[in-house]
Amino acid sequence: MPLLSRMAEQDHEQVIALQNRACGLRGFLAIHDTTLGPALGGTRIWRYASEAEALDDALRLSRAMTYKASLAELPCGGGKVVLIDHDRLDRVAAFEALGLVVENLGGRFFTGVDVGTTAEDLAAMARTTAYVACESAPGLGDISEHTAQGVWQGMRACLEALGIERPRVAIQGVGGVGRWLARILHEQGAELLVADLDPHRAQQVAETCGARVVAPEEILAADCDVFAPCALGGVIRHDTIPRLQARIVCGSANNVLATAEDGDELARRGILYAPDYLVNAGGLIRGAEFYLLGRADSRASIARIYDRMKRVLALAQEQSISTARAADQLAEARLKQAKTFRDLFWGGVKVRRPAAHQAD
Ligand code: NAD
Repeated sequence: MPLLSRMAEQDHEQVIALQNRACGLRGFLAIHDTTLGPALGGTRIWRYASEAEALDDALRLSRAMTYKASLAELPCGGGKVVLIDHDRLDRVAAFEALGLVVENLGGRFFTGVDVGTTAEDLAAMARTTAYVACESAPGLGDISEHTAQGVWQGMRACLEALGIERPRVAIQGVGGVGRWLARILHEQGAELLVADLDPHRAQQVAETCGARVVAPEEILAADCDVFAPCALGGVIRHDTIPRLQARIVCGSANNVLATAEDGDELARRGILYAPDYLVNAGGLIRGAEFYLLGRADSRASIARIYDRMKRVLALAQEQSISTARAADQLAEARLKQAKTFRDLFWGGVKVRRPAAHQAD
């Protein structure tokens, strides 16, 4: 399908194709929606098999950011940069070149870390743009910890809904977020099972949080109350759902459900699914509040994930739909309301001529 038709399909505002032969920069910068505010989204770098695959990711991920920001009630929209990694890439020069493109957007897009990007990449970008978040900024705090706090708030609402007091939680992946989540759950008196492809990470959490280590291939089917995917997306699929023993699925991984129908299937089986982009928004909330609103602390805002999860549960029950669809409805409703407000009071999007041309 041609690019403009693809953009129209999910209503993307702008897609910039990035190409710089000298440094090997190749990729896409996608801005999905800026109705609620500047588009926020990380910069991802990956060895994509094709240009089409990279574009797909940029379109899908930027839209997901709009939904995440909308549901989190943040004054921002969604965007994403997706870069194609390859052997001839001059990484430093490529990130500096990308920074210039971001700078020229004048604040319409704000970026930061994502899969594959390092602190050095962000530092290179920061040499050419002010619109990049560096995770080491004083006062920002650990983004993974903020994300884990949000996951806990969502999980708390799910546990209350099912009347579970001392849960048994199986965490898949104890990296940045999973490790923090284990710590929080341990403090809350939960019993923990953990798995990681890196056995040292799993062992470390076992020692600090009294968790039992499980083999990575067994964690999904572990006997537990909550399955917390904190590694990869797409783990809940038609072939893995029948293996789940948990009554709740709640973790930090993005795109946990392989398809929307998998959310319906979980609901049919009475398994409570905490929508990924609702419960993993803690890091985004912290980043947005720190960089856009200058807030020193975001704990209260992150704690509201608990209330949002309860609202999603209530809506899902009321309309007999999956929690995933209920979350989408709430995110879309806020966006629609903002668009109506903009159209009513500003008369829609107006294109103004630059001042120099207005005289003629
Ligand atoms: P990370 O890379 O620090 O940790 C992921 C861990 O999962 C690693 O230790 C890895 O070895 C392990 N892992 C990978 N595949 C596994 C498997 N099959 N079984 C068991 N363990 C496996 O990543 P992170 O920053 O902790 O993020 C985890 C997930 O949460 C990702 O999907 C990420 O996109 C999402 N997320 C993270 C944040 C954040 O603030 N870091 C925010 C929102 C969403």
